[in-house]
Amino acid sequence: MGDKKPVLGIVAFSCDQGCQFAILFIDNIFDILKKFDVQYFHLLKEKNRKTKFDIMFVEGAITTKAQIKKLKEIRKKSKFLVALGACAAHGGVPAMRNFIKNKELEKYVYNQNTLKDSVPAAAIDQHVKVDYYLYGCPIIQEEFTALLDAYLKGKIPEQFEGPVCLECPRRGTPECFLRQKKVCLGAVSRGGCNAICPKAGFPCMLCRGPLPKANFTAEIKLFKSWGLSEEQIKSRLNLFKNIEVKKNAKKN
Ligand code: SF4
Ligand code: SF4
Ligand code: SF4
Repeated sequence: MGDKKPVLGIVAFSCDQGCQFAILFIDNIFDILKKFDVQYFHLLKEKNRKTKFDIMFVEGAITTKAQIKKLKEIRKKSKFLVALGACAAHGGVPAMRNFIKNKELEKYVYNQNTLKDSVPAAAIDQHVKVDYYLYGCPIIQEEFTALLDAYLKGKIPEQFEGPVCLECPRRGTPECFLRQKKVCLGAVSRGGCNAICPKAGFPCMLCRGPLPKANFTAEIKLFKSWGLSEEQIKSRLNLFKNIEVKKNAKKN
């Protein structure tokens, strides 16, 4: 990197902006951000500018046609674009709306105009090229700081390959939730979170999204063998990503 500070931006689409808050709560965040020319970060700055960005973080899923247009404009202005968190990386919580018809949604949505313009909630890479993904709901703060640190050194960290089970101390022991017939999605979920949930006593909920070659067919078959209905399985699998339970189940 030259003497000039890289221009950084963080923008949000449909989400609760929890990943931006996770960034704000990083202990030494101001020391880290001092190394960048922060031009857009509306939770932090009063005046924000949509200029050309060296590194741009995009948070939230895309849920309207207007957002698609805006996202494409941002992409054109950004050299390196990062999907920030589950909503941006694979649809996340907003993708749950894809199971609800617009007629039903009208009962809950305050601004009805948003619905007229709405499209199925999707990850940002359904519309633009993404250069890097920060997974999780919310993101892991250390992964964010590691990315910025590496970026300043002209390197990009490799993404973790493998499932949550790989980092889980319960793996292969009677403590594994699956052995206890408790729904844990660690085997199909993208790892790299240091298996924080199983370590803390909670099954994995797939917040980092599915592994590219996740075997949902086997997972669904297992849960069905425990007596879980398709609806029950669907409610577990679809918290953070739309998984087609029926399609996968048919293969059984
Ligand atoms: S990934 Fe989770 S924490 Fe981040 S914006 Fe989406 S819902 Fe909020
Ligand atoms: S992540 Fe879940 S399924 Fe994987 S080893 Fe740990 S407890 Fe078992
Ligand atoms: S264990 Fe699962 S739910 Fe928990 S942070 Fe990791 S991927 Fe997300």
